[in-house]
Amino acid sequence: MALAFDEFGRPFIIIKEQEQKTRLRGLDAQKANISSGKAVARILRTSLGPKGMDKMLQSPDGDVTITNDGATILEQMDVDNQIAKLMVELSRSQDYEIGDGTTGVVVLAGGLLEQAERLLERGIHPIRVAEGYEMASRIAVENLERISEKFDFGLSNIEPLVQTCMTTLSSKIVNRCKRSLAEIAVKAVLAVADLERKDVNLELIKVEGKVGGKLEDAELIYGIVVDKDMSHPQMPKKIEDAKIAILTCPFEPPKPKTKHKVDIDTVEKFQTLRVQEQKYFDDMVQKCKDVGATLVICQWGFDDEANHLLMHRNLPAVRWVGGVELELIAIATGLSCLSFSALYFICLLFIWIDSIKKFFYGSSTVFFFLYLPESNVINVFEGGRIVPRFQELTPEKLGKAGLVREKSFGTTKDRMLYIEHCANSRAVTIFVRGGNKMIVEETKRSVHDALCVARNIIRNNSIVYGGGSAEISCSIAVEAAADRYPGVEQYAIRAFADALDSIPMALAENSGLQPIETLSAVKSQQIKENNFYYGIDCNDVGTNDMREQNVFETLIGKQQQILLATQVVKMILKIDDVISPTDY
Ligand code: ADP
Ligand code: MG
Repeated sequence: MALAFDEFGRPFIIIKEQEQKTRLRGLDAQKANISSGKAVARILRTSLGPKGMDKMLQSPDGDVTITNDGATILEQMDVDNQIAKLMVELSRSQDYEIGDGTTGVVVLAGGLLEQAERLLERGIHPIRVAEGYEMASRIAVENLERISEKFDFGLSNIEPLVQTCMTTLSSKIVNRCKRSLAEIAVKAVLAVADLERKDVNLELIKVEGKVGGKLEDAELIYGIVVDKDMSHPQMPKKIEDAKIAILTCPFEPPKPKTKHKVDIDTVEKFQTLRVQEQKYFDDMVQKCKDVGATLVICQWGFDDEANHLLMHRNLPAVRWVGGVELELIAIATGLSCLSFSALYFICLLFIWIDSIKKFFYGSSTVFFFLYLPESNVINVFEGGRIVPRFQELTPEKLGKAGLVREKSFGTTKDRMLYIEHCANSRAVTIFVRGGNKMIVEETKRSVHDALCVARNIIRNNSIVYGGGSAEISCSIAVEAAADRYPGVEQYAIRAFADALDSIPMALAENSGLQPIETLSAVKSQQIKENNFYYGIDCNDVGTNDMREQNVFETLIGKQQQILLATQVVKMILKIDDVISPTDY
C-alpha cells in the first residue's frame, strides 16, 4: 500500500496487486460472506410487517414493479454476489413450500448471521456455532409445536380461515379491502379443496387481473375467465348451455411438410383451388356442427375465410387461447365419473353371500380372499377433452358450460370471456381489478400469498400467533434451554435466541416504535404472565394481545422459516474458502 498525490495535491491510496486479491480464506472469507448475507437482509428488513415499506424495482427494459413480497423483491433484484444469491434462494424456497413469510425468513437469517459474526470475533469455531444453531432451532421448532393451537373450521364456519388470510394481506398494498379479498381467497380454496385428503390443488385456481376499476371490484367466478373475445364482432355475446369444442388444430387447409410449388396458369385452375380451399373450411365447420358444438375454442387463429364462415353458420368461436387456459377450460367443463366393470359386481355379490353365510353359520368360508380389485373401477372422463384433430371430434368430447358470456370493461374495447356454471365446478377464477398495472400485479401476488396460507391451514390446521409473539416465545424457550448445555454451543444457542428477537424488533422499528424498549416490555410481559400471545402492537390498536387482534400465522409456515434460515446460515458459516474463476 502506498500513499500518492494527484496533480491537484489530493492524496489517494494505491493498493498493490489489487487484481490478484480475489481469493478469500478462513475468517476473512466467513466475514465477507456474512456481510453480504446481512446486506441482503438489511434491504428486506424495512418491508416486514403491516407497516413495512414497499420497494420499487426497475427491470433493465424499464418495467417497474412495486411490491412488499420478499421473494419478488429478491427475484427482481440483480444480485451478483454468490452468498447473496443463497439468500435469494432461501426466500424462493419459502415461497415454493409455504407461499408466505418470505420476508421474515430472510430477516431471521440476517439476524442469525449478525450474531454468528460476534461469536466468530470472540474466537468460537464456526462449526461449533453451526452446531449450536442446529440444537437451538430444534428447541425453537418444538416450542412452536407446544404453543400452537388447533383451528376448527368447516364449510359453514370459515371465519378462522378468513382471519388468518387477513393477517397475511394486512402487510400488503391491498390491506384496504383485506376482508373481501381474504373471503374470496378462502372460498376459492374451499371450492377446489379435497377436505378428506386435506389437499388443495392451487393450479385449479386461476388469478386473472385487468387494469381499471377499483380493488373492491375483485370477484370470484365459479368457472374460467379468459382474456379473449369472440373472433367475429357479430357473433352472439351470450351462449346458454354451451357445448364447447376445445381444439388445438387450426382452421386451415393442411400444408405439405416439404417445399412445394403450385402452378396456376389459367383462371379455371385458380377457381378450382379456391373452391377446394373453401370446401376444406366448410368441412371443418360442418364437422363441428355435426357433433353438436355450439362454441369453438381454438388454440390457433382462423383464416378470415373460416372466420366469416363460422359467423355465417352461426357457430361462435374464440381464437388464440393459451395452452394453460385451454387445459383449465377442459377441466372445468368436463365431468369425471366412475364406472364399474362386471367383475367388480361379481366380487360384491360373493362378499354379500359370504356375509349372509357368516350370519347363519357363524363362520366365514372360502370367499375371504376375494377383494374388490381397484383396477376394476374405471374412471370415465366425460366431456371437456382437448381435441387435436377434427377427425377425432365426437359428441362425448365436448365440454359443457351453463353460461358463456362476453363482458366488456370501461369505455375501452377490452372484453373478456366468462365461462360459468361449468359441469365440473372445481376450477375457479379470481378476477382482480386495480387502478394501474403495478397495483394489479401486486394484488395478484398478495392473493397468491393468501391462497397459500388458506391451503396450508387446510393441510395442517395448527396456528401460532403473529406480530412477533411466536418468535419472542421461542427466544425465551431457547434462552432458558441454553444453560443446560455445558459446551461452547451454549453461546451459540444464546445467540440464536437473540437472533429470534430480530423479527419483533424489525416489526417495532417499522411501525415507528422504539425497538429495544418495546421488545423488552413485551418479553417481560410474556415471562411474567406466562403466556405467548403478547406481540408487537404494530397498528397501534392499544393492546399487545395478538389473540384479541386476531393476528394468526400458520404453524408450518413459522417452523419452515426457522428451519430454512438455520440451514442457510449453517451453510454460509461452513464456507472458509471462496475461489472465484479469476484465480486461474
Ligand atoms: P412475510 O413476507 O414474511 O410474510 P410480511 O410483510 O407479510 O412478511 O409480514 C409478516 C409479519 O407481520 C409477520 O411476522 C406477522 O406476524 C406480522 N403481522 C402481520 N399483521 C400484523 C398485525 N396486524 N399486527 C402485528 N403484526 C402483524
Ligand atoms: Mg406475509
